Amino acid sequence: MKFDGKIAVVTGASRGIGRAIAIELAKGGAQVVVNYHTNDEAADEVVQTINASGGQAVAFQADVGEFDQAEKLIKFAIQQFDDLHILVNNAGITRDGLIMTMREQDWDHVIQTNLKSAFNCSKIAVRHMMRHRYGRIINITSVSGQMGNAGQTNYSASKAGQIGFTKALAREVARRNITVNAIAAGFIETDIWASVPDAIQEHLDTMQELIPLNRVGQPEDIAKAVAFLASDDAAYITGHVLTVDGGLGMY
Ligand code: NAP
Repeated sequence: MKFDGKIAVVTGASRGIGRAIAIELAKGGAQVVVNYHTNDEAADEVVQTINASGGQAVAFQADVGEFDQAEKLIKFAIQQFDDLHILVNNAGITRDGLIMTMREQDWDHVIQTNLKSAFNCSKIAVRHMMRHRYGRIINITSVSGQMGNAGQTNYSASKAGQIGFTKALAREVARRNITVNAIAAGFIETDIWASVPDAIQEHLDTMQELIPLNRVGQPEDIAKAVAFLASDDAAYITGHVLTVDGGLGMY
């Protein structure tokens, strides 16, 4: 299998897109650390699903927006499995609202969880990957970071930030055989949309009609793209933003 002997950390893997990524990498033979924030039950379910189908996974609770906790997560993975090859910075949240009403803490919380988390985890992981001259880092960003989305100044800024982060880090570590790429996801059916205020939800419903492939995406659509970028088939791709959005953001 293409990920035999590979160790992967997936942040925010208890639900939605992260869950699908963890399962897809494990299906390919990777041993996976399933990170989550608060939802122990959901994380356990992912671990059980992977282990029941012959894979190997463990859960690890950490708020990856906090540097100390992110450090513990990455060090745990390296201690548990003796190595680290793949890091997927997927954990993310929304705190939507028009800028006139957006609270300062909603801005800060989204930037910390979505963007600083990628810095936190990558900084620790890269130390190990540089020494071993191998690594695959994949950041899950959004078309909101490319197109902007009304009601999401905080989220769009965090996701655009991830794109700059991806390209800068790709240049820093390329000589050590570490690739860094991003996936810009479109509308994917997960819990993340459940908390969106009604006014913004109406706007999103209209945007869904604009998807050329005429359907909302599923977490597996993103997981397959991650598996490609994490594989040796993608060895010559770095600093790239792969849009997986049914054509929504094409220009
Ligand atoms: P989701 O269903 O709401 O799941 C979010 C995941 O992130 C959960 O596993 C959650 O853990 C975890 N998480 C949240 N805060 C965390 C923290 N501080 N530390 C560690 N884990 C944390 O979201 P999703 O839709 O799958 O989104 C996953 C990623 O894809 C996000 O970065 C999001 O921005 C991006 N994305 C999503 C879409 C979409 O349409 N769904 C589109 C573009 C990009 P708990 O279960 O413990 O809460």
